[in-house]
Amino acid sequence: MHDLTLAQMCHGLARRDFSSTELTRHLLERIGAANPRYNAFITIASETALAQAAAADRRRAAGDAPALCGLPIAHKDIFCTRGLRTSCGSRMLDNFVPPYDATVVERCAAAGAVVLGKTNMDEFAMGSSNETSYYGPVKNPWATDCVPGGSSGGSAAALAARLVPGATASDTGGSIRQPAALCGVTGLKPTYGRVSRWGMIAFASSLDQAGPMARTAEDVALLLQVMAGFDARDSTCLDRPVPDYAATLEQPLAGLRIGVPEEYFGAGLHPGTERAVREALAEFERQGARLVAISLPHSGLAVPAYYVIAPAEASANLSRFDGVRYGHRCADPVDLRDLYMRSREEGFGDEVKRRILIGTYCLSAGYYDAYYNKAQQVRRLIRQDFLDAFANVDLILGPTCPNPAFAFGAKGGDPVAMYLEDIYTIAANLAGLPALSVPCGLVDAKPVGLQIIGNYFDEARMLNAAHRYQLATGWHQLAPPALTETAA
Ligand code: GLN
Repeated sequence: MHDLTLAQMCHGLARRDFSSTELTRHLLERIGAANPRYNAFITIASETALAQAAAADRRRAAGDAPALCGLPIAHKDIFCTRGLRTSCGSRMLDNFVPPYDATVVERCAAAGAVVLGKTNMDEFAMGSSNETSYYGPVKNPWATDCVPGGSSGGSAAALAARLVPGATASDTGGSIRQPAALCGVTGLKPTYGRVSRWGMIAFASSLDQAGPMARTAEDVALLLQVMAGFDARDSTCLDRPVPDYAATLEQPLAGLRIGVPEEYFGAGLHPGTERAVREALAEFERQGARLVAISLPHSGLAVPAYYVIAPAEASANLSRFDGVRYGHRCADPVDLRDLYMRSREEGFGDEVKRRILIGTYCLSAGYYDAYYNKAQQVRRLIRQDFLDAFANVDLILGPTCPNPAFAFGAKGGDPVAMYLEDIYTIAANLAGLPALSVPCGLVDAKPVGLQIIGNYFDEARMLNAAHRYQLATGWHQLAPPALTETAA
């Protein structure tokens, strides 16, 4: 049952092959057995999940079956869930039980989804390896000595290990696409403004976007359909109609113009990743798409611009965690200053502190123009590169990450080496563009991803391309060898 995709589970429920209660119980058992090995979940919500499953079964029996009725999913622990602890991977929020649901959580619930639990993540979504979580690292099911990617590593690992068929995640500089690539699953960062961020704990507000992860593009489309749409509570959410993503999934790709940026195939790209991505490009050509060589000349400036803008916004967003209103509070403070200082010192981990320091520095008087303003100007140039490219192409394809999953600790001593893992993902966030990652091969027996970047609000076309690719190839169906061995 756990090998089924969301769409297949949906059919199974509709045909009464199994009930949501049976499905939920089965996956909860798997999570219980496998979570000690992978650490993909921070909180497992067995009791509420079974109650939601029973409610979904009753609803279906009564002839009312909304899109996700009885389908089990997991939420990244960055989304507020009413009555269910929401830690954001931090000691700071270790005891935080939100009094409300994030819009994304609310929409999934209204569509009948069953929430199995909250997935592990880098602390406050800062990281590319899931090593910064207060709850310990997530292990990559493909190689447990390697990272799953971050910051949504828990969602990606849970999908790869067949613990859950669909999950929510968030992407500020690659946190949906990078772990999707490293764990061999499919993940989409929608256009900035497509999905509400209300109730999603803020990291860098001009970059953060919520999005879905699953094993197939078809399932991602199903989840996006429920998640997307206007929400008056998020002032950055756009009021535009949501297309029917499933309706265009199968369209042929003949005539599609695919831009291939020269900057995404330069030094630093693993030759195995390059080979896999080029083979994927050849598959699109076979389906009638046309490859167009393009240039995104300011690509090299994306990582430096991001690592000014993201920490600057993070330093402002994280100032609310002071031990007074909510969050961790130190024991026996001698005065207010001591309370602020020790609560923040104890509540935040090293990477979060590093970002607060960098961000506060970049925003301080005298440095603001030199760093923050300059980075915003660079951001504008990066966006212009994409606008120029999309004048001639429909989609832009390239690698999601330069390398397959790396070993724990491999980049621990060198934050810049870690930041460079996001070299191909960050530009889409700076420009606000939608981008998705699909599995496109194995390198050193570990998955790598193909990145598909689209124009604003062109998610339907991206999902169409990803789905057609998945109909013709089997990379998204591969399971980590450890799973198939135990099943055999
Ligand atoms: N890896 C990037 C960072 O550490 C992006 C993280 C994210 O998208 N949340 O900031």
